[in-house]
Amino acid sequence: MSEIIVAGSINMDIVNHVDQFALPGQTIQGKLTEFFPGGKGANQAVAAAKSGASVRMIGAVGRDPFGEELISSLRQAGVSTDQVVKKEGASGMAFITVNAQGENEIILSQGANGKLTASDIPDLSAYSHVHAVLLQNEIPWPVTRHVILEARRHRIPVIFNPAPAMPVSDDDLALIDTLVLNETEAECIAGESAEPPEKAARFFIGRGVREVLLTLGERGCFYANRDGDEIAVSAYPVQAVDTTAAGDTFIGAFAAARAEGMPVREGLRFASAAAALSVIRRGAQASIPAKAEILRFMNEAGR
Ligand code: AMP
Repeated sequence: MSEIIVAGSINMDIVNHVDQFALPGQTIQGKLTEFFPGGKGANQAVAAAKSGASVRMIGAVGRDPFGEELISSLRQAGVSTDQVVKKEGASGMAFITVNAQGENEIILSQGANGKLTASDIPDLSAYSHVHAVLLQNEIPWPVTRHVILEARRHRIPVIFNPAPAMPVSDDDLALIDTLVLNETEAECIAGESAEPPEKAARFFIGRGVREVLLTLGERGCFYANRDGDEIAVSAYPVQAVDTTAAGDTFIGAFAAARAEGMPVREGLRFASAAAALSVIRRGAQASIPAKAEILRFMNEAGR
């Protein structure tokens, strides 16, 4: 079975629906409060597991009631949590306010994610057989970098999603096998417009990345690699209701597809279908589809 390690964030998303955002000093009535297990790391782990991979999560939750709930949500999706550590204090939380127009404001509280250190990372020599290590930018960068270097030492392919965006040095880019990013992240790292996607992709290949995958929202995605292959795949036309975790679903599904040996173009279509299904449902992990559903959707869509 294909195996993937995800090292990253685990959050509780607390979503409040309001008519309009509160002004400074104002108290307003919320209409509905919802709790969704989230965090880019956990979302991608769940997406990869639901897409059929055997997934182990490396990360941290707090010793608060959310900690237990977050771990059980990962387990329910089939993700191994024996490498998730517990830290004193609160779990990571995202406080999300959504107004009547569907716009959102988000306050991210790192909690336990910010307390993760390199000493919490297991020796990857025990996992040198895994197909990929998947990382994002929601745990401290020195920890992410430590995992990248460890993975390379054990010849485990590194998939990096630099989200939220922050600058990455050329030296660090050269350590990445597969870079998956959206246009905002591409512009932040490249320091120039990500349009057209071909140009942005070539920028990263020129920096030593082995393959790059740009996600373009409802326009689909663009893939390029060091061998000169370039593949554009359009998004599936769906009525989007909540695009939270579309990117995470895409990345987790793509990682699982590649780990099981699916060719790139097929993997891109599979990931696009998984992401399309996630945008027609609300929530983060709750909206992530399982492999059978993704394959059925692709079949019905005729591609
Ligand atoms: P993003 O992170 O917004 O670029 O989205 C990641 C992937 O999700 C895209 O490459 C699409 O395949 C898919 N996606 C995002 N938004 C939509 C949408 N409105 N309709 C269909 N697919 C979407």
